[in-house]
Amino acid sequence: MAGVILRRAYGCYNCRKQVALHDDIVKKNFVAGHRKRAFLFSHVKNVVTGPKTDRPKLTGVHMVADVHCSDCGEVLGWRYEKVYNEAHNYKLSKTVLVKYKIVKLDW
Ligand SMILES: [Zn+2]
Repeated sequence: MAGVILRRAYGCYNCRKQVALHDDIVKKNFVAGHRKRAFLFSHVKNVVTGPKTDRPKLTGVHMVADVHCSDCGEVLGWRYEKVYNEAHNYKLSKTVLVKYKIVKLDW
């Protein structure tokens, strides 16, 4: 294993399927709701998205789609499909994974 650097990954807390890489975190101290911490990821994998819906968030109404683990179906967060306020454009097409719903894999 000499010289091999494993990329730090996160998995679904329920089935440990790998869903995201630490390097893909855009924003670490994301607040996803009342006292709910989350990470904003540029991209995730092994997930499926649900229907797009307009949903009120702390920062206003955004169009989001729930993100589910592709293996066990657990809801892990959501993806921003549309933002109605330019100040939040950086969230567009990015995915929020709630901190307590993901676990560090082998690191
Ligand atoms: Zn899972």
